[in-house]
Amino acid sequence: MDLKIEDVLSDDFIGKEVHLRGWIYRKRRMGKIIFVVLRDSTDIIQCVVEKKNVGPEVFKMLDKVGVESSLELRGKIRKESRAPTGYEVDVSMVNIIGPSYNFPISKDKSDEFLLDNRHLWVRSREMNAILKIRATVFDAIHEFFKNNGYYETQAPMFVTGAVEGGATLFEVPYFGRKAYLTQSAQFYLETLIFSLEKVYTVAPSFRAEKSRTRRHLTEFWHAEAEAAWYHNKDMMRDEEEMIVYIINAVVDRRKKELEFLKRDVSLLKNVDKPFERMKYEKLIEFAQSIGVDIKYGDDLGADEEFAITKNFEKPVFVTHYPRDIKPFYHRPDPENPSVVLCHDLLAPEGYGEIIGGGERIYKLEVLLSRMEEEGLNPDDYYWYVDLRKYGSVPHAGFGLGVDRLIMWIAGLSHIKYAIPYPRTTRRTKP
Ligand code: ATP
Ligand code: MG
Repeated sequence: MDLKIEDVLSDDFIGKEVHLRGWIYRKRRMGKIIFVVLRDSTDIIQCVVEKKNVGPEVFKMLDKVGVESSLELRGKIRKESRAPTGYEVDVSMVNIIGPSYNFPISKDKSDEFLLDNRHLWVRSREMNAILKIRATVFDAIHEFFKNNGYYETQAPMFVTGAVEGGATLFEVPYFGRKAYLTQSAQFYLETLIFSLEKVYTVAPSFRAEKSRTRRHLTEFWHAEAEAAWYHNKDMMRDEEEMIVYIINAVVDRRKKELEFLKRDVSLLKNVDKPFERMKYEKLIEFAQSIGVDIKYGDDLGADEEFAITKNFEKPVFVTHYPRDIKPFYHRPDPENPSVVLCHDLLAPEGYGEIIGGGERIYKLEVLLSRMEEEGLNPDDYYWYVDLRKYGSVPHAGFGLGVDRLIMWIAGLSHIKYAIPYPRTTRRTKP
């Protein structure tokens, strides 16, 4: 049987012979004994290699190789309270598969060094825990949408128009013409609701974000949805269900990893429905009351959001933003057209915005007049405009920054720790 370390860390295995494969996590020699701490994808276990049991040749080889050498071994499990995970293997056979010498990463390395060596740092126990949480977040996103009647779909990465404003577009040469990397699948998803009604996609979005914050990447993973016949409140309901679903999935399935990262799980367990809804106007008043330098009509930057959401214990929906600070496609509130029927979801504990969403303009005249106000040429958006000509329906949607969600759930101090290979203004390698 192909056993993993996690499986054999149990009283059931005491006295049983097991075969394990993995990498040397730590190693130390005491005379005729070498203590190897072996790691695999699941956990670590101490392995005791005695010269008399494996022979002088193998013992010498094992003594020579360094951490991160790969090997397979065989031996009996016994309980050992002094071992890092409570059990150890009394090794009878060891076979070095891929030796490693002078592994570059040791304890005291700087953050920059670890980023330059991310291809090796992904092996760390810390990254292993984060990457597992990340995998569970992606699983849960797909599960949620599939359980709630959304069809998965795909949008192109090469596009010709901006969704979130021209300033953050990445231009790419495209056979003598210009194309851009997509900032959001939203407009394409809007076209697809006329066929599938409820759609979602999970894909990268690209934004040339010049502002260096702890929560901006130039390439991030975006989970986006659009639904026909949905109003702002309907979308917010789906979103809060989704967030609670994802958090529960991680709390249930990733206990060990959250514990390893020292995440305060009680704060996650505390997240339940419904989330508070707060109008932008009220949020500004609240921000002013705690001394944030902001006035009505200002957009919230990373620093403001940090100061505000430090005071939150649960996520909060902020609605009714002034239309001047939101993109043209948001539907103005018929009762007060100076604000739009939108929402941002702000994560607590200082994490800030993780979702931007809202109701889309569905009337042709309204869309055209908003485009004119913003100085946009409707010809550039002919297919987006067409949707309002042929059987338009009220609809709403959202975009969730998956890396930001992971950052919050795992309690990380920077978004670069939430993704295997972060892309920022200064980094495109490894
Ligand atoms: P911000 O104001 O923080 O830049 P935004 O208003 O530009 O965010 P949206 O256009 O609403 O964001 O995008 C939807 C979601 O995508 C955001 O709520 C966020 O979670 C995520 N997101 C946006 N830009 C980035 C980025 N550069 N890096 C990581 N995630 C991002
Ligand atoms: Mg942005």
